[in-house]
Amino acid sequence: MKSYRKELTFNIPDRRGYVNITADVQAAIKESGVKEGMVLVNPMHITASVYINDHEEGLIKDFDEWLEKLAPHAPVSQYRHNGYEDNADAHIKRQLMGREVVCAITNGKLDFGTWEQIFYAEFDGKRDKRVLIKIIGE
Ligand code: ZN
Repeated sequence: MKSYRKELTFNIPDRRGYVNITADVQAAIKESGVKEGMVLVNPMHITASVYINDHEEGLIKDFDEWLEKLAPHAPVSQYRHNGYEDNADAHIKRQLMGREVVCAITNGKLDFGTWEQIFYAEFDGKRDKRVLIKIIGE
């Protein structure tokens, strides 16, 4: 069995942002040489998510507005996180959008439905954040 590990780094200039990383994951699969297997993709941080959904700008704005309604950033005084941290909303948004995705690799490619795309979602940006890609298979 082959095993391959890669890290991607993102520095989103705003507090929140959504990046389609499907091509990065597909590139890692190619580098791995794995034809049949699985790929795991997860942020190595607890204030960001990796999720699969449609690459449609309206929907991405809908996700962002929904998250901000459920866990508004301000006022930060509404949260108790460590008594001083200003990113409690980012922890909660990440929990709502999930931690990781696991995808099938068939014939060296992501075995996806028509509209499936992998996104990195940042909820506490303006600094380097890492995403782990782990591939196993043959
Ligand atoms: Zn925190």
